[in-house]
Amino acid sequence: MSNTTETIFSKIIRKEIPANIVYEDDLALAFTDVNPQAPVHILVIPKKPIVSLATADPEDQALLGHLLLTVQKVAAQAELENGYRVVMNTGADGGQTVHHLHIHILGRRPMSWPPG
Ligand code: 5GP
Repeated sequence: MSNTTETIFSKIIRKEIPANIVYEDDLALAFTDVNPQAPVHILVIPKKPIVSLATADPEDQALLGHLLLTVQKVAAQAELENGYRVVMNTGADGGQTVHHLHIHILGRRPMSWPPG
């Protein structure tokens, strides 16, 4: 799959549509999910339009590490000291609906395992 897909997240990155942005730097953006599945539900995305984890390149290694450390920072900012779940839906069977790589942070409620 091409890594150049335009999605709703591209518009959020360009500030063409509103989002509740909770963190931003040169490489990443974090904003609350419009349809939250937990009291805290934040999406962390790269500004680079990578479609999914399955299409990331070896050259994205540092960026992927940066996204995980951004998750850590955003979770601390959201005071999720009791823990949280990190989810990266990937592809059709992974339940991915927006084709711009994103990491879900879900918190402030107990999570069950395995997920449905
Ligand atoms: P996926 O199912 O692809 O892993 O997750 C996509 C997520 O993006 C969903 O949780 C959905 O609620 C969220 N989402 C879709 N469109 C928008 C939007 O326009 N704004 C925000 N803040 N979240 C969105």
